[in-house]
Amino acid sequence: MSTSTAQEVKRVPTSEDLLHPGEFVFIPKREPIRTFESTPIAPPTGAFRRLWWDLFGKKYEIKQIVELLWPEIDTVIMNCPECNSPLATTRSHTIVSLEPLTIETPLTCPYCRTNTFKVAEGKIMTA
Ligand SMILES: [Zn+2]
Repeated sequence: MSTSTAQEVKRVPTSEDLLHPGEFVFIPKREPIRTFESTPIAPPTGAFRRLWWDLFGKKYEIKQIVELLWPEIDTVIMNCPECNSPLATTRSHTIVSLEPLTIETPLTCPYCRTNTFKVAEGKIMTA
């Protein structure tokens, strides 16, 4: 591995500020929204079963609705050092530290495809 290709990364406040190669934004994960919905259960037919249901039966079904919000995991979006397209980390990338930025697994740009690089200590190293 050669350090002569090392390029510094730079953190920017929002994804709209991603203008130059090596700039990145950190988006912390968002917890899913959990809501509960109760739907009435229709009474059974038949006089006896109906009486039993009126006294002891379950009148409502409680359902939990989970709405997942992006991102489900802490995510770094970085502009590719080569083509300047934004690429996002996935579950397979562990963000070891933010300042300086270190990501455990090398990133591959989905646009140039051939470009795989590693980010360690705030520097981009071509793998
Ligand atoms: Zn690229």
